[in-house]
Amino acid sequence: MHVHSEQAITSPLTPADRLRVADRWRTAESFYRERDDRTTRNVGDLATHAYRAVEIHVDPGAAANLTVQRMALTVANLTARWARRVRIVLAADAPLAPILRRDGAACLSDRLIREMCAADPFGEFNIAVTGTSVANDGRAPLRLFVGPWTLHPQALSSEDYQVHASSWTALGRRTGTQGRLLGIMNGAEATAAAAGLAGALGAADLFKRAVGHVHANWMPTFAWDTWAGILDTSPMAWSTVGHRSVPEHLDFGETLLAGVGAIGSAFIYLADFMPLSGALTLLDRDAIEITNLNRTPLFTVMHALDEPKKTGAVAAYLTGRGVKVESLTGPWREHAAALAERPFDAWISLINEDGAWAEVPFQLPPVVLHGTTTSGWGFGMGRHIPGREDCTLCRLPRPATEFRGPCAQGEIALGVDREPVRASLPFLSTAAAALVLTAYLQLGEGSAAVSLPNDVSADLGSGLPALIALHRGPSVGCRGCHAQSSVAWHSRGGRGRFAHYSTP
Ligand SMILES: [Zn+2]
Repeated sequence: MHVHSEQAITSPLTPADRLRVADRWRTAESFYRERDDRTTRNVGDLATHAYRAVEIHVDPGAAANLTVQRMALTVANLTARWARRVRIVLAADAPLAPILRRDGAACLSDRLIREMCAADPFGEFNIAVTGTSVANDGRAPLRLFVGPWTLHPQALSSEDYQVHASSWTALGRRTGTQGRLLGIMNGAEATAAAAGLAGALGAADLFKRAVGHVHANWMPTFAWDTWAGILDTSPMAWSTVGHRSVPEHLDFGETLLAGVGAIGSAFIYLADFMPLSGALTLLDRDAIEITNLNRTPLFTVMHALDEPKKTGAVAAYLTGRGVKVESLTGPWREHAAALAERPFDAWISLINEDGAWAEVPFQLPPVVLHGTTTSGWGFGMGRHIPGREDCTLCRLPRPATEFRGPCAQGEIALGVDREPVRASLPFLSTAAAALVLTAYLQLGEGSAAVSLPNDVSADLGSGLPALIALHRGPSVGCRGCHAQSSVAWHSRGGRGRFAHYSTP
């Protein structure tokens, strides 16, 4: 590990841990070869791109801002999942916002470096007061600017990118005119989800530039209103951000989180940016393995060494964070019937093993949220309010397609015993998780939620050309939608705190 900084940095790894790391992976290359397997399936030889120097510049005028800190943590964490030389340019360190203090970190720089080193113990990460114009390979570093930069305007080159978030809106900017951001500066704090989405999309832009996407396919200037599901990609998009109050606290009530893999654990990482209460039941059958480190901000190299169950690792992450956690380990099929008996408020259903989503409507669930990523550059979110909206069965992709499949009319081919190993890009799961968290926060905002889009997806392959945001009602002829409208539903999913959304 190479950590250079003006300030003393405490490695998250003890000397004993470092010995274990060195014993398991004799060289950095052996670590990267195992970790990056899924990413290299998508972009080819990642190693040739991963040494490109990256600089993440945190707005010195807003480093103490909660939204800026949430974005900086997300970007730095996700970028350390693939980039091996990352400099955080933090001209003014700041105390962490109280809710972001954890694992002994008190300052923003503490938590940034801790998470990056825990993601990749071989990486060359540092925190510096200034950036460099030329890295030691003679090339200019890839730069990402985080925050409004209103008080310290920077001259952005056409290569640089900037992310910010305000209210429910995630923002990205390629080039633009400084001095027109007063609305942003005076805007409200963003939702944790909008900040997480901005961070993930900023990380996506760094990745695109590193792997050699052409300029036309980089992330554009945009304002993504996650409340309404509206994307503005006009040059003046940043000036159109409307204000809507944001929830500052997340009450899980009684929520089932089925699946704590890449999306589920990223969801927890982002949710933990907020004060939490209520109870979460976690279900997953898998143990953490090293390839998981490539695409979730929550799992660390110590998890890759110890290979705990994902449920245990996530429960441990939430210890002392205000939420009561119960862990169930095993396949969905084994637990589904018993879980369906319990009065949950919401299911966050991220397990589709054995075609589980085809069966979910027949278990008469409460509101179901799900998130997806594709093996390309796509990610999305679905919400299913029983009786009012479509169900997971009719939203389910056919086996040969990606998540945006047509209504399957109850005809789902099962029998895929194991999911094929799929490519996966480092930031997509967190982007999907941010959409799921948005949907959860919307549910807490009252009946306005039921008219919001319940099928939201985007594909970053050629930048962010469009946002698909649809509202899908029950499908005529779908047996799942029919089952969820039955009288029996009232004594099952109908007991949750969002059940009144189902009655017109
Ligand atoms: Zn249906």
